[in-house]
Amino acid sequence: MNRFDVIIIGKGPAGISAGLYLKRSRYEVLIIGKDFGALDKAEKIENYYGLENPISGKELSETGIKQAEQLGIDIFTCEVTSVEATFEEPYRFKISATQGEKKQEFLSKSAYCYRKAEKNTSHSRL
Ligand SMILES: Cc1cc2nc3c(=O)[nH]c(=O)nc-3n(C[C@H](O)[C@H](O)[C@H](O)COP(=O)(O)OP(=O)(O)OC[C@H]3O[C@@H](n4cnc5c(N)ncnc54)[C@H](O)[C@@H]3O)c2cc1C
Repeated sequence: MNRFDVIIIGKGPAGISAGLYLKRSRYEVLIIGKDFGALDKAEKIENYYGLENPISGKELSETGIKQAEQLGIDIFTCEVTSVEATFEEPYRFKISATQGEKKQEFLSKSAYCYRKAEKNTSHSRL
């Protein structure tokens, strides 16, 4: 089973942006997305920060994904079918996904790394 600090479901702008920030904070990140999301339907993206000229949604998606991959983020194309969460120790998040006939399971590693803080905050990361 593959283990990551953080698993993000969705490889659209929201998922990729979150992944970039987490990776910069040195978390091992996996992004799972079944397709390009809403951007795939957008023929032309304009009025968007940093875009001098309009580009297609697919082009913008591919650029974002390439940027994330270059930073070392794992991106899997498959459909999440279930998320199993245990909210007591040992905390556990198990994600099941399918890619055609192939079934995969991913485990959020950080689920095993939380402890109660001594003072002030309720939880902190080890
Ligand atoms: C026709 C059209 C034109 C647009 N034009 C513009 C524009 O000009 N300028 C602009 O700024 N915005 C535009 N938008 C909006 C823009 O596309 C969205 O704001 C943006 O895509 C939202 O990003 P998101 O990451 O929140 O969601 P999405 O891009 O929708 O991403 C959702 C992600 O979740 C994944 N997902 C969902 N369920 C599962 C599952 N079970 N398992 C695995 N993965 C899953 C999808 O595969 C996808 O990767 C347009 C949208 C459309 C449809």
